[in-house]
Amino acid sequence: MSSNSQEKLLEQEQRYISLLENNPDGICSLDLTGQFVEVNPAYERITGYSKTELLSLRYLDLMFEEDRLTSSELIAKAFSVELTDVQLRLMHKQGFSVEIIAKSVPIIVNHRVVGIYIISKDITERNLMEQAVREGEAKYRLIAENSTDLIGILAPQGTISYASPSHQFILGYSPEVLEGRKAIEFIHPEDQPAVRGEFADMIRLKLPFQAEFRYRHQNGGYLIVESRLIPVMDPHGEVDSVVAVVRDLTERKKSEELLQKSEKLAVIGQLAAGVAHEIRNPLTAIKGFLQLLRSKTTDQHHPYYDLMLSELNRINTIVNEFMYLAKPQAVQFQQVDIRALIQSIIPLLETQAILNSVQIKTILNHDIPPITCEENQIKQVLINFLKNAIEAMPQGGHVFIEVECFHEAEIKISLIDEGCGIPEERIPRLGEPFYTTKEKGTGLGLMVSHKIIENHRGRIHISSEIGVGTTIEVFLPLAI
Ligand code: ADP
Ligand code: MG
Repeated sequence: MSSNSQEKLLEQEQRYISLLENNPDGICSLDLTGQFVEVNPAYERITGYSKTELLSLRYLDLMFEEDRLTSSELIAKAFSVELTDVQLRLMHKQGFSVEIIAKSVPIIVNHRVVGIYIISKDITERNLMEQAVREGEAKYRLIAENSTDLIGILAPQGTISYASPSHQFILGYSPEVLEGRKAIEFIHPEDQPAVRGEFADMIRLKLPFQAEFRYRHQNGGYLIVESRLIPVMDPHGEVDSVVAVVRDLTERKKSEELLQKSEKLAVIGQLAAGVAHEIRNPLTAIKGFLQLLRSKTTDQHHPYYDLMLSELNRINTIVNEFMYLAKPQAVQFQQVDIRALIQSIIPLLETQAILNSVQIKTILNHDIPPITCEENQIKQVLINFLKNAIEAMPQGGHVFIEVECFHEAEIKISLIDEGCGIPEERIPRLGEPFYTTKEKGTGLGLMVSHKIIENHRGRIHISSEIGVGTTIEVFLPLAI
C-alpha cells in the first residue's frame, strides 16, 4: 500500500471516529448475533452503561420483555435497508425506561452484511415536554370551552381564529360560523369607529385595552358587552394574536335600570304618602265645619249636605287607602277576608273607571273563608290587574271580579275584562320587567304582581283573546 493511500485511509478513519464520537445521537453497532461491537459516548449516556459493560452485552439485554417484537422489527428493517423510525424503550442501567426513536442500517463489507448500526435519539425529554404542553393546552381549552364569557382569539387584522362554544348560547352563532370572519362586523355600526381605533392602538402599542360596546346577536338585536383584549407576542416581540374576553352586561344593565326605576317609584310613593297626609287634615276640618253649618241651618235636610258629606267621605277613604299602601310597612301575614279587601280597593279605581266608561262588577260568593296573606301586597296586585283591565278598554266595557273556592285548598280570584286582549306570543313575556305597550307604562306591574303571588305560594294564570278580552286568574292557598 502506498503511503498516500495509507494516509487517505487514516484520514477516513479519523472522519469516521469523529462522526461517531461527537454525534449527539446514540450510535451502536451489533454483530449478526446481536452482540454490541461498538458504542459511542452518547449511547453510553443514554443507557447509563460504560462502553466496556456494553461490549459484553447483547442488544436484547437492554430491551423490555414487551418490546422484544419491536426490536426484532428494527433489526429486520436493517437487513431490508428500510430507513424508518421505530419508537421503543431501552432499559437504563438504573432500571428506568428511556424512550428512544431508533433507525437501523446494515453494515456491508465486501457485499456481505456483517452487522448493523442502530442510531438512537433520546426522546424522553421531548415526550415529557409535549405531555406538559398537551396538559397545559387541555387545561386552557377546558377553561375556554366551559366559560360563560365569550373567549376568542383574533389575528392582528381582527379575523376570528377561535371562538368558544359560549358564543352559541350568548350570541346565537355557532363558533364555526364566526371563525374566519372579522370581529368588527358584529359590532354595532355606531360603536365600530371607537373600537377600530382602540384595536389599532393596541396592535401599535402592544398594550391590552378594555371597551364597552354593542355586540350583535344572531336574532338581529344587540347585547351590551364589556370586552378585554390582550395582545399576545411572538418571539420577535410582534403581535402574533389577540385574546378577547367578552362579558355580556345586558342583564346587569337591566337590573341597574330596574333599581333606578324602583328607587324613583319609592320616592314618588313617599311623596304621595306625604301629600295624602296633608290632604287629610284640611279634609277633617272641612267635614267638621260642614257638619257645624248644617246643624245651624234651618234647611238641614237639603240634599247638598248629604252629597257633600258623602263625597268628602269618599275622598277620605281614598286618601286613607292611599296612605296605607304607600307607607312602607313590615311584611305581615294575617287572616284577611278577601271580599272586604276587594271592596276596599274599588273606590281607589272608580274615578279612572268612570273616565274610561268602565263598570266594575263584583261576584263575591258568601262561603269564602279568610286567607292568610299580606294585605297590602295583595291589594297592590289586584290594583295592578284592575288598572291594566281599565287601561285595556279605552272605549269602555265591564270588568268582572269573581272570587270562588278552588279545590278546597285554594281560592281563585278572576279578573275578566272586555279589552283589547294580548297576542298569544306575548303572554310568556308578561312577567318581564319593562315590558309595556303603553306610552306612559312602566312595565313593572305584572312583574311585581308575579313576585308577590309567588311569595304567597300562589300562581297566576293569564288567558286572552284579541278583541275579546283578558282573563287573569290568581290562585292563593287558603293556608300557608
Ligand atoms: P304597564 O301597565 O305599566 O304597561 P304591566 O306590567 O302592568 O305594565 O303590564 C305590561 C303589559 O301587559 C301592558 O303594557 C299591556 O300590554 C299588557 N297587559 C297587561 N294586562 C293587560 C290586559 N288586561 N289587557 C291587555 N293587555 C294587558
Ligand atoms: Mg300596569
